[in-house]
Amino acid sequence: GTPVLEAQALRKYFPVRGGRGAVVHAVEDVDLRLHRGEVLALVGESGSGKSTIARLLAQLMPATEGRLLLHGSDATVRGRRAFRRYVRRVQMIFQDPFASLNPVHTVRYTLSRSLRIHRGRLRGPALEQALTELLDRVQLRPPERYVDAFPHELSGGQRQRVAIARALAAEPEVLLADEPISMLDVSIRLGILNLLQDLRTRLDIGILYITHDIASARYFADRTMVMYAGRVVETGDSEAVTQDPKHPYTQLLVRSAPDPDGMEDRALGARGEAPSLVTPPSGCRFHPRCPFAVDLCRTEVPPLLEVGAARTAACWGYAERADRPSLGSILET
Ligand code: ATP
Ligand code: MG
Repeated sequence: GTPVLEAQALRKYFPVRGGRGAVVHAVEDVDLRLHRGEVLALVGESGSGKSTIARLLAQLMPATEGRLLLHGSDATVRGRRAFRRYVRRVQMIFQDPFASLNPVHTVRYTLSRSLRIHRGRLRGPALEQALTELLDRVQLRPPERYVDAFPHELSGGQRQRVAIARALAAEPEVLLADEPISMLDVSIRLGILNLLQDLRTRLDIGILYITHDIASARYFADRTMVMYAGRVVETGDSEAVTQDPKHPYTQLLVRSAPDPDGMEDRALGARGEAPSLVTPPSGCRFHPRCPFAVDLCRTEVPPLLEVGAARTAACWGYAERADRPSLGSILET
């Protein structure tokens, strides 16, 4: 079917302050499709452009280039009314539940305000009912224990649930969740992911799940997109991408993830630092850190090539062309 939210060839350049026209090439040529009831993970290191994509999809800032489609129609907003209509359908959840809730407002105030903005003014029993339903939906039970609480009376996990309830007040079709668990205690992270899982199943919401933890993408997301330095380098079924990564970057990322015994393979760190996005590497942006890079990788940007059923990788190693060295055999080993 038609994706609920689609991005085509998204690009975002930020001017460098005092940089005499220099720009940060934060996001280049990103295509993305999210369906209702689907969880899509966006995975990458710090600075790879994940939050920039979320903010572009939320239309909190304009893209330098590219298109946004909602149910197949152009969705780029011009003006406040169009923005408000868009936000009703595409809601964002932020990383820091401490910063995202106003400390002087009770849960009741925060949720009532969101209900008023998105659904119109409710009063009396209708308002109480809506508040109860929202709190129940995010498993803050019994609701009367939480509805008059201030943020400082709640734990990080409870605050994130309130932030999710505030988003749900809009009855959105899409949730953009930018590292929703990374600031929470490890012990409560799974509870939040399970809550989001429940929402996508019961409310048929499409969720973009942003994380630098590829292991959580495997657990939580149907599909995974891996980003490196502003570009998508690999896409596919989450299980396949994490179990059998095709792009050399994803392979290093998977190997660099902390293993359950706490022993860390520093495969990626050992291969140098992430590149500057003001003067990104030519060709494949990963080539300076890639164990398999050949000349072609230094000069030409690899397109996302098909590397299996519904899988793509932007690596010349998978190009079947007589005039190019095939790295496929090296990468497979
Ligand atoms: P993290 O995992 O640390 O959250 P990220 O993948 O979300 O990283 P972004 O925040 O999207 O990365 O940043 C991508 C690049 O764009 C970085 O180099 C960042 O410094 C730059 N950037 C982001 N926002 C701005 C801005 N408003 N002005 C200038 N540069 C920016
Ligand atoms: Mg970020």
